[in-house]
Amino acid sequence: MNMVPDLTELERVRILAKTARFAPPPAVLADGRRELVGLSREELAEALAEAGEAAFRAKQVWHWIYHQGATDFSVMSTIAKPTQAKLAERFVIGRPEAAVVQTSTDKTRKFLFRFRDGQEAETVYIPEEDRGAVCISSQVGCTLSCRFCHTGTQALVRNLGAAEIVGQFMVARDSYGEWPSPRGEAPRLLSNIVLMGMGEPLYNYENVAKAMKIVMDGEGIGISRRRITLSTSGVVPMMDRAGAELGVNLAVSLHAVRDDLRDEIVPLNRKYPIKELMAACRRYPPASNARRITFEYVMLKDINDSPAEARELVRLITGLPAKVNLIPFNPWPGSRYETSTPAAISRFSNIVMDAGFSSPVRAPRGQDILAACGQLRTETRRERKAPAG
Ligand code: SAH
Ligand code: SF4
Repeated sequence: MNMVPDLTELERVRILAKTARFAPPPAVLADGRRELVGLSREELAEALAEAGEAAFRAKQVWHWIYHQGATDFSVMSTIAKPTQAKLAERFVIGRPEAAVVQTSTDKTRKFLFRFRDGQEAETVYIPEEDRGAVCISSQVGCTLSCRFCHTGTQALVRNLGAAEIVGQFMVARDSYGEWPSPRGEAPRLLSNIVLMGMGEPLYNYENVAKAMKIVMDGEGIGISRRRITLSTSGVVPMMDRAGAELGVNLAVSLHAVRDDLRDEIVPLNRKYPIKELMAACRRYPPASNARRITFEYVMLKDINDSPAEARELVRLITGLPAKVNLIPFNPWPGSRYETSTPAAISRFSNIVMDAGFSSPVRAPRGQDILAACGQLRTETRRERKAPAG
């Protein structure tokens, strides 16, 4: 028997224990009614069984909530009126409150959500010609203080619950009237999900995983794992688990190719340095099926944008199914960096492309409403981190 403790497993237990300290409040209203959104199928069946309902009821209710987008039991026409009334006494199908909704001149739409305890997080819908992505937040604030990121200046307040994570997507869908969920074919408008909003999804793994299993369920929202991308700053021990259990696409916020620089701009690197991060990418199960990992690289003028760094990036990803997403730095009030020049960006991109990797430059979207990558942050001022030294 192997008596050596599995260090990765120990580290995972530690991360999950830490997560528990930032748990969201229970999804129950002041009047005692329980929130059904955010329950797994099994939990939904249990909750309804406790209310005296037969097993088939869970299937019906699931269909109404996640396929039809129902927010009220009274529209559930396959359920008898007295049963609807009974369910409404005990349960609620809620949506997070969209306190502010802004639409950019480029049609990007940003939602500021206020949850039941008053905490806030932002969600961005980014339309493209024949599809669109909902960029979802996983935490209120973030524990990791990446130097170039506005969210990183806000202390972690708490994790979002599964209901709050799925709820962001559902409100976005309400806002475009895209219910019922299309069956079998991809939805036209809200076709993709990117976990690239506020927070580090792998530091809120349980809630994120539960929410993603709900949105992937084929009898409900039905978004395929191939249309979901989880972005991480590199929480190595949780990457294996996410790959095995969810199988979604992975985006890794690399941003620097040397540990000294990455230690500074993505401080999590001090814990999980580049070598370990790249090894985790090579193990990531969906990548072994030739699904590409996206490496995100924010272009910071004179910091990380030299040709030598582009060549080193190529060396790091060689042998992996990979693409590189170059993100021109999006400034925010008080940020200390400048965006690389267009010449530096295209020089960098050309080196990566010449090595055979796709290397698109991500056009900033929704800048007029501060909705572009890294600009999200809510103004809960008392939660502001002390300025970094
Ligand atoms: N916490 C996760 C996901 C959220 S951030 C992560 O870090 O991956 C989504 C992406 O936006 C990350 O690649 C992040 O590094 C990048 N980003 C953060 N601030 C930015 C800024 N000001 N300009 C451009 N990209 C930024
Ligand atoms: Fe957190 Fe991601 Fe911003 Fe870093 S880039 S502070 S991990 S949200």
